[in-house]
Amino acid sequence: MIKSTGYAAQAADSGLAPFSFERRDPGAHDVQIEILFCGVCHSDLHTVRDEWHNAIFPVVPGHEIVGRVTAVGSHVKKFMVGQIAGVGCMVDSCQHCGSCDEGLEQYCENGFTGTYNDPEKQTGGQTYGGYSNNIVVNENFVLHVSEKLDPAAASPLLCAGITTFSPLRHWKVGPGHKVGIVGLGGLGHMGVKLAHAMGAHVVLFTTSVSKKADALRLGADEVVISKDPEQMAAHLNSFDFILNTVAASHELDAFLVLLKREGTMTLVGVPEFPHPSPSVANLIFKRRHLAGSLIGGIAETQEMLDFCAEHGITSDIELIDIQDINQAYERMLKSDVKYRFVIDMASLTKEKKAA
Ligand code: NAP
Ligand code: ZN
Repeated sequence: MIKSTGYAAQAADSGLAPFSFERRDPGAHDVQIEILFCGVCHSDLHTVRDEWHNAIFPVVPGHEIVGRVTAVGSHVKKFMVGQIAGVGCMVDSCQHCGSCDEGLEQYCENGFTGTYNDPEKQTGGQTYGGYSNNIVVNENFVLHVSEKLDPAAASPLLCAGITTFSPLRHWKVGPGHKVGIVGLGGLGHMGVKLAHAMGAHVVLFTTSVSKKADALRLGADEVVISKDPEQMAAHLNSFDFILNTVAASHELDAFLVLLKREGTMTLVGVPEFPHPSPSVANLIFKRRHLAGSLIGGIAETQEMLDFCAEHGITSDIELIDIQDINQAYERMLKSDVKYRFVIDMASLTKEKKAA
């Protein structure tokens, strides 16, 4: 077993603190990665505070992992020691159901294994995520991250990037489309960059007046303050597609009425409390669609990483030491993220010095 260190929550109200644990030795198909950077997703916060009522404590969160390969199993074909590699939200799936066969492991009919907070088949223990110094993952769930991309700024692509890329691709966003992105946080700012790169006319909806200039810089063509009814009314019946990334419960009707006939709003935010039920009339009178989308498959995640390398797209990040993670969560709750916290995992060794 590999002695590992990281940060874990021991209970919903404990916050995150140093934690020592063991990982499996790499098997024949496994890749061992020294973690260099890990992005901080709002899902990490939802999980460690048990807002989704599914936490298996202790939780070591983190599913936006970029690091360097330090060992490979004897049957590993796609990775070599020394390469930069990424791990996202999944580390396993059944690999034989209809969804897995189609490369949609996130919809595995037998349930995929999350990078953290899930039972681990290989050990009978549980998975621990990327707020740690290393990880061991089956090569089928490891991604190639181009050396062209800054590895810290690339780490959020592994969740925020793919979670926005996948629905934009599925609903065929491109030139001539008017696309709304709701919320300028980790997911939202990637949605703006990606939809812009795909050639759409991008309108960013925000509750934070102060984010307007940033949104335009990131690639939005227009910015709407969603709390201002007049600004909202100016866009009635006009959107082909809206990607809603908001992490809190809110009125969906305010956005549904902005879709044109047969337009779709896709939800990716998973708030602790449910949204008020939307009006059926707003859906049926214009045959509008309300949909959801979960991260993306492994092949599509690689496609997204390659798209980002080609277009020079990474996340706008604030690099933090792991010792600052609890304060970062408080700022995330205030929508005060510009636009993704990323943990510099070198900071973990400060614990060793202190110990
Ligand atoms: P985040 O960085 O905290 O961004 C969320 C944004 O939502 C905020 O920056 C804010 O943007 C807006 N917002 C927050 N509270 C709001 C409120 N009460 N009303 C309206 N807008 C509000 O979070 P994230 O990491 O992007 O994650 C967003 C959500 O997606 C989370 O629920 C997360 O769990 C979920 N998620 C889902 C998937 C999936 O596969 N479906 C994957 C990853 C994450 P403004 O300041 O611009 O208003
Ligand atoms: Zn995430």
